[in-house]
Amino acid sequence: MSSVAYILRGCRASPSSSLLLSCTTTNTSRSFSALSFSPSPFSFPSSSEKLHKVHPFLRMEHFWTGSSIAKTKIKGLVEHLKEYGVIKSKNVAEVMETIDRGLFVPEGNPAYVDSPMPIGYNATISAPHMHASCLELLEEHLQPGMRALDVGSGTGYLTACFAMMVGPQGRAIGIEHIPELVAFSIDNINKSAAAPLLKGGSLSVHAADGRLGWPELAPYDAIHVGAAASEIPPALLEQLKPGGRMVIPVGNIFQDLKVVDKNLDGSINIRNEASVRYVPLTSRAAQLRE
Ligand code: SAH
Repeated sequence: MSSVAYILRGCRASPSSSLLLSCTTTNTSRSFSALSFSPSPFSFPSSSEKLHKVHPFLRMEHFWTGSSIAKTKIKGLVEHLKEYGVIKSKNVAEVMETIDRGLFVPEGNPAYVDSPMPIGYNATISAPHMHASCLELLEEHLQPGMRALDVGSGTGYLTACFAMMVGPQGRAIGIEHIPELVAFSIDNINKSAAAPLLKGGSLSVHAADGRLGWPELAPYDAIHVGAAASEIPPALLEQLKPGGRMVIPVGNIFQDLKVVDKNLDGSINIRNEASVRYVPLTSRAAQLRE
């Protein structure tokens, strides 16, 4: 797969969305949002390339992570998402400002632009507008004390956000089938504001096939799936609590972000929220072959 097709995954697919500006690519250059300070087209690493051939400014950006410059950049990114109406909730804005995306994006990538980024193993960290949209859609189901399952947790960014929202009395579980990404996500979380929750046991990440969910701690108030399923996995539907909500991209080439609500009587309502482009929810072997 070309790096162009690859980088488009993890963002909205709708051409009418002004946010697509930040995901648009051409064969030779990429246009990032105004928040990016990277001044020139640069060669974006393909999935098979290592991340060391990067623009020096981008290396500096990583160096600045955690500093007051990083904080200013996160605030700018959140403001941008508010301006475009993606973030409406104070809680979502707060959690996205608290969990520093810069700690989750592999070194050499610009962390604070509204674009998905490769994380290796044919996977991406989703674009900030997708993270924000999913947090907004799930907010009511991420109240203190609730249980959240993040399937295809990748970098651990959203799992950390969920953990912050449900707090130490709640439970946030990430499921990722690439063990190296599980280790990467645990390292990332340990550097972030969610580290005490990982230590305290209300946040955990497990190497497993997320299509089977995580029955040990079911049922869940919120289930997020970060990879596109060809159909909604029955185990996930089963593990959703009555009154709970699942947000899941479904489809192959054309995918819809579906909002699945389980009513208190156990009946299910499903609606399409947006056209999106995610990496597939698949077997580990198929993903690594891609
Ligand atoms: N929300 C994550 C998205 C990562 S991309 C983030 O923003 O960091 C999707 C992830 O789903 C990848 O890490 C991929 O390895 C994982 N994945 C795909 N199929 C899976 C499966 N069957 N079980 C668990 N994880 C899976």
